[in-house]
Amino acid sequence: MVFFEHKVEELHEAMFWRREGDRIHCYLCARHCKIPEGQIGFCGVRQVINGKLYALNYGRLVAMNVDPIEKKPLNHFMPGTNVMSIATVGCNFACQYCQNWDISQRRNVREPYFPPEYVVSETIRLGADGISYTYNEPTVFAEYAIDVMRLAHKHGLFNTWVTNGYMTIEALEDIARDLDAATVDFKGHGNPAFYKKYIWVKDPSPMYDAILEMKRRNVFIEITDLVVPVDTGSDLNSLRKLVRWIINNLGDETPLHLLRFHPNYRMLDIPPTPITLLEKSVKVAKEEGLKHVYIGNVWGHQLEDTYCPRCGYKVIDRQGFFISKLDITDDSRCPKCGYKLNIILKPPKLLK
Ligand code: SF4
Repeated sequence: MVFFEHKVEELHEAMFWRREGDRIHCYLCARHCKIPEGQIGFCGVRQVINGKLYALNYGRLVAMNVDPIEKKPLNHFMPGTNVMSIATVGCNFACQYCQNWDISQRRNVREPYFPPEYVVSETIRLGADGISYTYNEPTVFAEYAIDVMRLAHKHGLFNTWVTNGYMTIEALEDIARDLDAATVDFKGHGNPAFYKKYIWVKDPSPMYDAILEMKRRNVFIEITDLVVPVDTGSDLNSLRKLVRWIINNLGDETPLHLLRFHPNYRMLDIPPTPITLLEKSVKVAKEEGLKHVYIGNVWGHQLEDTYCPRCGYKVIDRQGFFISKLDITDDSRCPKCGYKLNIILKPPKLLK
């Protein structure tokens, strides 16, 4: 079977693999595919050719455009800035409702090649402040992201990933070096039954290890959680469990975005999440002790804004992805009471 029409000399050898018997073990993500000669891994973009693993999608960008950082969403990292967003095809998840299924589930790489230098120079030319690796799971184009991130840092640009967090600790050693912030996407409050049925992931627990490793490597983290109106996707006990884990491991000022589900791909028969269910979920997360809980995918909702946890002053006023007021001091303090907010205005890895 031909998965890619380019010659092997034109392909980029993958990182994160080892030979095990007559198979290649890819340990980039927690699926740990054992791939026979000529075949591809679950993500559809890593192929064994002549006993080596190749990253078929290295530099083969399917999207490159500038977005407000709030679209990722990142509400507490560099608010009000713009990021160049890049993506390839392929994904290590199989979300049955994926909004970008046409690129994430495609198993055929046919995009032209863009060198890392091109992405960085276009980011600078268009006046963006950083680069976001997004739309499909960046783990599956990690080799390319690592090269772009290194170059971006050299030019004073920050890097953010929008990720399902299903990469390995070994891979994070290279990924996290130049990664400044990550939006880690949970779905259905991290309920294992939801992951099994709707994402085809047997065990979501590697996500938690990866998040802890990101934190250890000074990656700023915001969490999203897609609330899907099916039994396993909106269970409030699962939400409480997830929120307690966030508070205990990342802190009670970690931003949590509860996102509205919209029917797509193979789940067209499930209606959008009722706004009342999202509001109830926010209430539960706040009852557990989280200080910054947002509603996402509901344009103009009042739970898009950021308030000082101590005095309640509104420090950031948002309308969707756009900021109409940003009132914090240069050292991220509330201008009314002086409270130090969990908001990054100068990425520490860029200051080194
Ligand atoms: S990155 Fe792809 S090939 Fe590697 S383990 Fe994950 S799904 Fe399998």
